Amino acid sequence: MPWLAQAQNETLPRPAPQAVAPAAGHHDPLQAQIHQTRLRRLYERTATPAQTLRNQCRFESDITTPPPAGVVALTFDDGPEPGQTEQLLRVLAHYDVPATFFLIGEKMQKHPELVQDDLSSQKHLIASHSWDHPNFHELGEAAQKDEIERGLAQMPESLSPRLYRYPYGNSSCAGNELLHAQGYQIVGWHVDSCDWAFDRNGSVALHEAVSCGVAVKNRSDYVGHVVSAIRERKGGIVLMHEIHPNTLARLSEIIEALQKEGYRFARLDDPALADSLR
Ligand SMILES: [Zn+2]
Repeated sequence: MPWLAQAQNETLPRPAPQAVAPAAGHHDPLQAQIHQTRLRRLYERTATPAQTLRNQCRFESDITTPPPAGVVALTFDDGPEPGQTEQLLRVLAHYDVPATFFLIGEKMQKHPELVQDDLSSQKHLIASHSWDHPNFHELGEAAQKDEIERGLAQMPESLSPRLYRYPYGNSSCAGNELLHAQGYQIVGWHVDSCDWAFDRNGSVALHEAVSCGVAVKNRSDYVGHVVSAIRERKGGIVLMHEIHPNTLARLSEIIEALQKEGYRFARLDDPALADSLR
C-alpha cells in the first residue's frame, strides 16, 4: 500500500493551519518553526485545489518529473555551519561524492572561510537558499524581493549554474519572476530525507512522515527511509541539511548503501538532472 494511503488509514491530526502547535520536544525555536511551517504546507497542499496552487505559484519547487534512473544528487541546505561543514566535506571527500550546498546568505557573510571550503575541491556546487530563511508565504512582495536579492548578493559573480531553493520549498509568483530574470533556476527535491525530524530522537511522528513521504515501516529508521525512498524512485535529488548532527553521523551508511546498489552521484548541473530544474 502506498505510504500516503497507509498513513491516511491512521488518524491524521487536522488542526486549523494557524493553530498548529510545536510538538513536544521542540525546544529549539528553529526546529519548532520548521515543524510548524512543514505542517501548514502539508495541510495547504491537501486542502487547496491543484489549479489554485498552480495559479499562486506556491509550490513551484515540487518536481513533477521522475528522476533520471540511477542518478542521485545529494543536496545540503541551511549551511554553512561551523563544525558541521568541515565534517561533511571530509565524508564527501572520503567517498569522492559531489554535492550541492544551498547556503543561507547571512551565514555565508559570517563564515566566508567555510564557503571557500565548499568550493576549494572544485567538486561541489554552491547555491542560494535566501538571506535568512523566512517562509516566503508569510512575506509581502517587497520583503520577498529583499530576501532574494540579499541572498544572491552573497553569491560569486561568476556563479554557474545559478540555482535557488526556497526555504521550505515555499515559492511565490513574484519570487519566481525575479529569480528567472536574474538567470536563476528553482530547485526542489524528489526525496525528502526528513532529517530535521529524525534528528530529534530517531523517529518521526505520523504527520511528519506524511509531510516527508516516510513509509510507515521506516518511521524509526532514518537510513532505511532515505535509501528506500531513493530506490523507489530509482534515484533523485535528495534534500538534507548540514546543520543536523545525525545527518552527518549517518551519511557514510547512506552513501555506502547507494554505491553498493550502483547509483551514480551527481551535482545539480549534471545534464541528466536538467528536467528537474525550473
Ligand atoms: Zn532550509
